[in-house]
Amino acid sequence: MGCLFCNIIEGKIPSKKIFENDRVFAFEDINPQAPVHALVVHKTHTKNLDELTPENSHIMGDLFMGVKEVARIRGIDAAGYRVIINNGTAGGQVIWHLHVHVMGGKPAMGPMIIP
Ligand code: 5GP
Ligand code: ZN
Repeated sequence: MGCLFCNIIEGKIPSKKIFENDRVFAFEDINPQAPVHALVVHKTHTKNLDELTPENSHIMGDLFMGVKEVARIRGIDAAGYRVIINNGTAGGQVIWHLHVHVMGGKPAMGPMIIP
């Protein structure tokens, strides 16, 4: 079946697209945990941060420029927002294509983690 997020990037699985350029794709999370909850993925498949190298480290810059663009488009840039990467099993990662969560749209995002 391949990678879910690669299939979303390729349009084989539908998503609510927010933004796309030649490097990244951003879309609404299917199970939002905040009034705004977007995911930003790179068009180059990497599993997670474990696969970053000096050669492909531009992926992070591309992703975070995408984060800024999503925040602007969804109107949460001025108020502020939270950015999360769940990395690996203990980090809570369930989709094995590196992605950045962008969450906001309420006055405060609350505690950073639940103890
Ligand atoms: P992770 O725990 O891997 O960081 O987060 C995966 C995220 O992907 C979850 O927030 C989940 O709601 C979202 N997700 C899972 N399947 C789909 C899908 O088919 N479409 C969209 N838009 N989001 C998905
Ligand atoms: Zn993928």
